[in-house]
Amino acid sequence: MMKETENDPKKPAISTRSVQSNDEVDTAVFDELESEVRSYARNYPVIFDRAEGAYLYDQDGARYLDFLAGAGSLNYGHNNPILKEKLIEYIEYGGVTHSLDLHTTAKERFLDALNEVIFKPRDMNYVVQFTGPTGSNAVEAALKIARKVKGRHNIIAFTNGFHGVTVGAMAATGNSHHRDASGVPLVGATHMPFDGYLGADVDTTEYLDRMLSDPSSGIDHPAAAIVETVQGEGGLNVASFDWLRKLERVCRKHHMLLIVDDIQAGCGRTGTFFSFDGAGVSPDIITMSKSLSGYGLPFAVTMIKPEYDQWKPGEHNGTFRGNNHAFVTATTALRHFWSDDSFAREVQQKGALLMKRLDEIAARYDDSLVRSKGRGMMCGLTFATGEMAGAVTREAFEMGLVIETSGPEDEVVKCLAPLVISEQDLLQGLDILEQATAKVMASMDGGADSAAA
Ligand SMILES: *Cc1c(COP(=O)(O)O)cnc(C)c1O
Repeated sequence: MMKETENDPKKPAISTRSVQSNDEVDTAVFDELESEVRSYARNYPVIFDRAEGAYLYDQDGARYLDFLAGAGSLNYGHNNPILKEKLIEYIEYGGVTHSLDLHTTAKERFLDALNEVIFKPRDMNYVVQFTGPTGSNAVEAALKIARKVKGRHNIIAFTNGFHGVTVGAMAATGNSHHRDASGVPLVGATHMPFDGYLGADVDTTEYLDRMLSDPSSGIDHPAAAIVETVQGEGGLNVASFDWLRKLERVCRKHHMLLIVDDIQAGCGRTGTFFSFDGAGVSPDIITMSKSLSGYGLPFAVTMIKPEYDQWKPGEHNGTFRGNNHAFVTATTALRHFWSDDSFAREVQQKGALLMKRLDEIAARYDDSLVRSKGRGMMCGLTFATGEMAGAVTREAFEMGLVIETSGPEDEVVKCLAPLVISEQDLLQGLDILEQATAKVMASMDGGADSAAA
């Protein structure tokens, strides 16, 4: 099934551009005209031009293995040919491109596919709200409907959670770098410790339950809890299925809705379509975006249990709700990759391989310096400091690997390779990561001493 991404031996070896050649790239127009707010671009001083599967190509034709993959928006790779063909067909046919929230053939097909391929086999009963095309907007909709349904303002969010940068979503986000940019007080959310935050031995749902049960704890009775099962931007912290079940129990006990933000961990990233498949929880609201279109097109939805779909028409709206091109590629992706469990199994196998290699890399160094973490194909290496992690990503880029950091101190190097990546390319990227890690560790004071025998 994955032939299109298989490594072609005729292709040139991975770029090993030097710093000098990077410096020659003329990025003046970006430096002069693009806002200082740009971020990812700063770490990769080249101009990307083409992309295919797990590879990006710059204007000079040098190619880079992409372990950033649109921060998890490109699970099926860049310009996946199966999705591209359907999209081109739709455009050539003159299919509707923009339609506000009107009924279209493309939307009809998407809803049918979602129901047949995802909802029905899981016995899930949800209605789909097409929000504005960003994950943040899907989160805003989720928080708003939960508050409306419950008639309460407060939301429980978790330490290191990331839910977007609009004011409502940001209130539920932990990261002070984003919060500080808000300019207004961020209200309506109370942060509680995520799974493992207080150490492996502390069940933080017990703490949450205690706080919610005590009328004098100082916490306003929440409408909902919002959680990522694996925290993407927060540094690949994994909630155990047991913890998720306990969280759901706490939500039920205190008459709160459970919102799972599956924007980054969903669409197969952890090895199943939903990151909570198999966890035995039934979220009241699910947000999805990033890889949902499958093609990197802007697209976000909020899935709501029908009894909580208490919106009045147009109460939450937006000009770009329901991107028809995204409907086309999302429909194709659902039917192609998720009609049976073969793709899920393939992702699980690659996830196991990824973790095995990361474990091997980490085993060379003291636990206090490098550790592996994550779940499925949402794994990475956590370093003692953000400086180390940043140095590793810079070294990796010099060897042709695009990879980013996450976590509170940017200390986690995050492997978000496309799920369709060939095993060969996956291993090649990990070899680069291993070499970059070795180089950075060797250059550190005492680095050599700390390497395991
Ligand atoms: C990326 C992300 C968001 C925000 O999505 P945007 O499209 O950037 O607004 C929200 N939640 C999670 C878990 C994310 O990873």
